[in-house]
Amino acid sequence: MNKQDERQQVIDYALKLNTTGLSPGKSGNISVRFNEGLLVTPSGVEYQQLSPSDIVNMDLSGNVSDDCVLQPSSEWHFHSDLYQSRADINAIVHTHSTYCTALACTGRSIPAFHYMVAIAGGKDIPIAPYALFGTEQLSENIVACLQSRQACLLANHGMIAMGSDLATAFKLAQEVEALAKQYCIALKLGNLNVLSDQEMIEVLDRFKHYGQRL
Ligand code: 13P
Ligand code: ZN
Repeated sequence: MNKQDERQQVIDYALKLNTTGLSPGKSGNISVRFNEGLLVTPSGVEYQQLSPSDIVNMDLSGNVSDDCVLQPSSEWHFHSDLYQSRADINAIVHTHSTYCTALACTGRSIPAFHYMVAIAGGKDIPIAPYALFGTEQLSENIVACLQSRQACLLANHGMIAMGSDLATAFKLAQEVEALAKQYCIALKLGNLNVLSDQEMIEVLDRFKHYGQRL
């Protein structure tokens, strides 16, 4: 895809954050890896107002390309640090989705209450410790948390999902939000029955062969 098409794709998915209810108003941000850097949503701009030239192109050190007028997302540190630490990742979706954020505000990770937590790559969906938004400290906390996962919660903030492309990262964000909702309801009902390590090892093994082989 050329730069124009990639920028439009970032806008399409940013708009989907609103229409799917994953992030209300202007919260969250989206990026894709592009050449030696990334394309990321600009800071604080309503998604409905975006045109392709507003999507910010920057290198992984934070230098914005000359053809960009808007400031990049305040969270560019974690976007670029994740691309540097995870060669397999080409797209990142950050949301303040309701149920993930509710759990994250009580300091909870999502344990193996349901086998589908394996979709994030492990036996649970962890939570990165709180740090001020937009800081290198927050980025450090997130990179450490996402060494062996594709998604995590952010304490007192929201969640991050990532993948090999934007469609995959976005679908994972939706799955994680659905799991967060189910977990909130299960917590309320009480008597949670969390799967054992051995049961989750079997799930993770089965996931390797799950779905269509095209
Ligand atoms: P930006 O508008 O700067 O991307 O910030 C939104 C956000 O979610 C901060 O964590
Ligand atoms: Zn945020």
